[in-house]
Amino acid sequence: MTPKIARFLAQQQPETPCLVLDVDRVEENFRALKQALPLARIYYAVKANPAPQVLERLVNLSSYFDAASIEEVTACLDAGAAPGQISFGNTIKKVSAIRRAHAAGVTMFAFDSREELEKLAANAPGARVYCRILVENEGADWPLSRKFGTTIESARELMLMAGDLGLDPYGLSFHVGSQQTTTRAYEVAIAKVGMLFTDLTEAGVNLRMMNLGGGFPTRYRDDVPEIDRFGNAIMTAMTEHFGNNLPEMLIEPGRFIVGDAGLISAEVVLVSRRDRNDPVRWVYLDIGRFGGLAETEGESIKYRITTPHDGSPMGPVAIAGPTCDGADILYEKANYRLPLALRSGDRVELLSTGAYVTTYASTKFNGFAPLAEYYL
Ligand SMILES: *Cc1c(COP(=O)(O)O)cnc(C)c1O
Repeated sequence: MTPKIARFLAQQQPETPCLVLDVDRVEENFRALKQALPLARIYYAVKANPAPQVLERLVNLSSYFDAASIEEVTACLDAGAAPGQISFGNTIKKVSAIRRAHAAGVTMFAFDSREELEKLAANAPGARVYCRILVENEGADWPLSRKFGTTIESARELMLMAGDLGLDPYGLSFHVGSQQTTTRAYEVAIAKVGMLFTDLTEAGVNLRMMNLGGGFPTRYRDDVPEIDRFGNAIMTAMTEHFGNNLPEMLIEPGRFIVGDAGLISAEVVLVSRRDRNDPVRWVYLDIGRFGGLAETEGESIKYRITTPHDGSPMGPVAIAGPTCDGADILYEKANYRLPLALRSGDRVELLSTGAYVTTYASTKFNGFAPLAEYYL
């Protein structure tokens, strides 16, 4: 928790649940990543947290943006980004969205299929396009792999075709999966995609760009490697493959930029035992899966939780949200322990919840209001 957030919570005691995010920390994370990978252009993945305060700060830092929908494109423009700073990175786009983004001056689009490439040719003529390659997501706590990306063979064919369709075959991209905890995933992906890059260049395609995607991790319950380790591993792998002839390098961090900048302040609604002899207490919070904590699905992302009783004796708990849906359980198998003194009415914090929370919150399931947000 940053001092600014601590002061805000102590002075304001805002109603729970709410997200409180320190925008200065967003800037610190951006600068740390820039320092770890000075040669890469940073395209912030807007979906991680599209709040105007976050986007505006990043515009001031001359960040670029990875948008997934026309609404996200518009949010970037509204925050002051120039169209040339925006990549339309979703490989699945409505024709109307392609047209509107192109008309707004966006010139960079992702694709991973022939069908999408043809949509781009018809609706964004002359655009710079890049093809997303399917890579291993091993080591990622929140993998993305199966839904996106294509094979090396098909990417080769499509990139050769792009020029004939009147598009500019600009580069290649991949995503090693979100909350990627190993540097090896980037090394393997760079070797694989780098080979295709060289192959296409030799075939006469004027490729200039490698987009290394996102995936850079936030520290949750478990430690993760420092960002410099990712920077070093990536630069070593890039130099090994390309030597001094490095292409433009892009990265698309989402979680790393905003994850640890925010926390959720929540209230304990009930602490109960299913059976008097059961050592496991059930702790129900006023936020759960449908209040925005979607990434607890499969207990994938394990947030740290602080309470007013930290330091006192603890016992095992299952943690759940307040709704009447049986799927609204955050953690049952992940061996969470919380203080035995925890009571209904206590205020608790879920740390590092600045990414992938506000946008996942349902609007009124069971009548619960959507998550309140404060940006400091
Ligand atoms: C979600 C997403 C990102 C951001 O991923 P993080 O793991 O949050 O860094 C980057 N690029 C694309 C194409 C994405 O879909």
